[in-house]
Amino acid sequence: MRESLPFQTEAQKLLRLVIHSLYSHRDVFLRELISNASDALDKRRFAALTNNAISSSDELGMWLKVDKEARTLTLSDNGIGMTRQEAVDNLGTIAKSGTEEFQKALAAQGGSGDLGLIGQFGVGFYASFMVADNVTVLTRKAGEDTATRWMSDGENGYTVEDASRSEAGTDITLHLKAADHDAGIDDFCDQHVLETLIKKHSDFVAYPIRMMWETSEPALDKEGKMIPGALPEITHEECILNSQKALWLRPESEITEDEYKEFYRHVSHDWGNPLHWLTTSMEGTMEARALLFIPERAQFDLFHRESAQRGLRLYIERVLIKEDCRELLPDYLRFVRGVVDAEGLSLNVSRELVQDDRQLRTIRKHLEKKILDGLKALRNKDREKYNKFWHEFGPAMKEALLSGIGDTSKILDLLVCKSTKEASTTLEEYIGRMKGDQEIIYAMAAPTAELAGKSPALEGFKAADIEVLLLDDRIDEVWLQQVLEFNGKEIRSAASETPPKSDAKSEQDETKDNETYKELLSKLRVALQDEVKDVRLSQRLVSSPACLVTDKGDLTPQMEMLMRQSGQAVPKIKRILEINPGHTILQRLSARPEGDVINYARGLYGQALLAGGGEIVDPVAMAEVMTALMGEALTQ
Ligand code: ADP
Repeated sequence: MRESLPFQTEAQKLLRLVIHSLYSHRDVFLRELISNASDALDKRRFAALTNNAISSSDELGMWLKVDKEARTLTLSDNGIGMTRQEAVDNLGTIAKSGTEEFQKALAAQGGSGDLGLIGQFGVGFYASFMVADNVTVLTRKAGEDTATRWMSDGENGYTVEDASRSEAGTDITLHLKAADHDAGIDDFCDQHVLETLIKKHSDFVAYPIRMMWETSEPALDKEGKMIPGALPEITHEECILNSQKALWLRPESEITEDEYKEFYRHVSHDWGNPLHWLTTSMEGTMEARALLFIPERAQFDLFHRESAQRGLRLYIERVLIKEDCRELLPDYLRFVRGVVDAEGLSLNVSRELVQDDRQLRTIRKHLEKKILDGLKALRNKDREKYNKFWHEFGPAMKEALLSGIGDTSKILDLLVCKSTKEASTTLEEYIGRMKGDQEIIYAMAAPTAELAGKSPALEGFKAADIEVLLLDDRIDEVWLQQVLEFNGKEIRSAASETPPKSDAKSEQDETKDNETYKELLSKLRVALQDEVKDVRLSQRLVSSPACLVTDKGDLTPQMEMLMRQSGQAVPKIKRILEINPGHTILQRLSARPEGDVINYARGLYGQALLAGGGEIVDPVAMAEVMTALMGEALTQ
C-alpha cells in the first residue's frame, strides 16, 4: 500500500531552514548519512549479541555507489534498518520537537543558518535535501521480511510503500542536483570528491566504507608505449575509503584538532564545535578509556527533564552497548558528550543490567573527577574560554550545590561570576582581595548581574568598600540560602546581611538615630502592617531612602516566585522595610503628624519594592498615592 504523508509542521520548518540557509555547508550531508549508517550498524551488532533471531554473520559495513548517468549517489548499510512505522516516525518528524524551545530557537535563528543550533535538533538526514532533488530510502529492519520505500522531494511531504530488499539494512539514494560551484554544490558523483569528504569527516568511523574505484590507464602497446588515438583502459576495484581507527584508542599526540572536532560531531550529532575535550584512562581492576567533549553551546533542552539527551556512548571492547548511557555521568554533567570504552564487562550485559552495575559507578566516579580536574585546568590556562564554558553550563553545574548532590567545594572552586569590583572572578580570587577583617563572602542574586549590582541593599557594602559577588542564575537564589562554605569562609546573601559596621558610624550615633526615629518607626509599622514584617533603621543604605530586605531564614522573592512557578503553594512572605536615617526625606518625615505619614509610608514601600526588582501588586493604588503626594508638594 502506498501512502502520501505530510511532514510534521516543525520538521517541515526545519527542513526549509536546512535547505535554504546552509548553502556554505552542503557537503555535511555525507557525514550525516554516514553517521546514521554507523549508528544503525552499531545497533545491528548489539542486537545480534542479544537476540538469536538476528544474525551478524555478514561483514557489517557501508557501500557508496555512484551512477553518473542517472546522477544518483547511494549509501547502503547492512545495519539494523527501519520498519515502515519507524521510517515514518524517524524521517518525517523531529523527535525533539513540539517543545517551546524549538519554536523559540527557530524564531531566534531568523534564517541565519547557525549550524550548531540546527544540528541539535537531530536533522542530519535532512541535509541530503541540500544536494538532492529527491531522496529515496529503501530499508528493511533486521528480523523482518518486508521492506519499505520512503520517497520525498523535501517540499511536498513524502510517500511510503511496501517494497523488497534482499537483506536487512538501508539504501539511501540521492538524486543529485547539478554540480554548481558558485552555489557550493560540488560534483558528488566524482569519486575524488567523495574520497576527500570521507577522509575529512568520517575517517574514524568503525565500519568500512567501500566503493568501486575507477582507474583509467592509457592504452599501452607491448613495449609499454602509449597507443596514439586508443581509448584509455578503465578498471574497477573495490576499495575502502576510511582508516576505521577508533579515535579514543590512538595516541593523543597523533590526533589533529580537526579529527577531534569531526569525531565530536559524529558522537554528539551536533553540527557545532566542541569547546574543549579530554581523554582519560582507568587501569587496574577495571579498565576503560574515555574521550569526552564539552560542547561550545548548551543544548537547547539542557533543562528539559524529559527530552534532554544525556549520557555518554558506552562501548565494551569497541562494541556499542548503549547510546545514551546516563549512568556514566552525574546529572549535573549531562551536557558532556563522548565515548567510554570498557574492557572486561560482559558483552552480553543487557541494558537493564547496565543500570545498576557497580563497575559503571566506579567509572562514573573516575569520569566526574577527571572532568572537574580538566575544567579547573582549563580555567587556569584559558580564562576566556573557561568563562564561555561557565556561561553555557554554569547553571547546570550549580545543581550540584544543592544539598547532598555533589562535592560542593569543587564546584564552588569552579564558579566564576561578576562582582561589584571585577568583570569575572572566582571565589579564590575574591578571598584574595578580602580586607583583613572580612570573614564572609557576600553574594547578591538577581535576575541579571546588572540588577544585582544596582540593588539598594548593596549601598552599604559599596560604602564600606566590600566586594559583593553578583549572581544571575535562577538557581543561585536556592544554593545561596544554604550558606555554603568555601575555604573556611561562609558565603552569605548580601540581601539579608548587614555589611560589617563601617568605622564612620559610632555606636553613639546609632543610639541617637534610634531615639530620633523611634516614633517614626512605630508610625511606619502601623501604616504598613499589612505589607511588611517590620520597619527598622538601615545600616546598609547610603543614597536610597529605603529598601526591602528578606529576614534571615525566609524565602527571598525570587525563590518565592520560582516555587510558585513550579506549582507549589507558598504563603505570602512579608519582608522588612529598612529606612535610611541619614536621608533628608526621613528626617523631614519624622517631624510630620501621624495622619500625614500613611501616603509617604506607602510611597516609600512602593519605590523600595521597585528598586529591588519587585512588582507592585496594585499599581492603581500606588498611582493614587503618588498623585496625592505630588498634589501636596505642589500646594506648599
Ligand atoms: P539523528 O540521527 O540526529 O537522530 P536524523 O534526521 O539524521 O537525526 O535521523 C533520524 C533517525 O532516522 C535516526 O535517529 C535513525 O533512527 C533513523 N535513521 C536514519 N538513517 C538510518 C539508517 N541508515 N538506518 C537505520 N535508521 C536510520
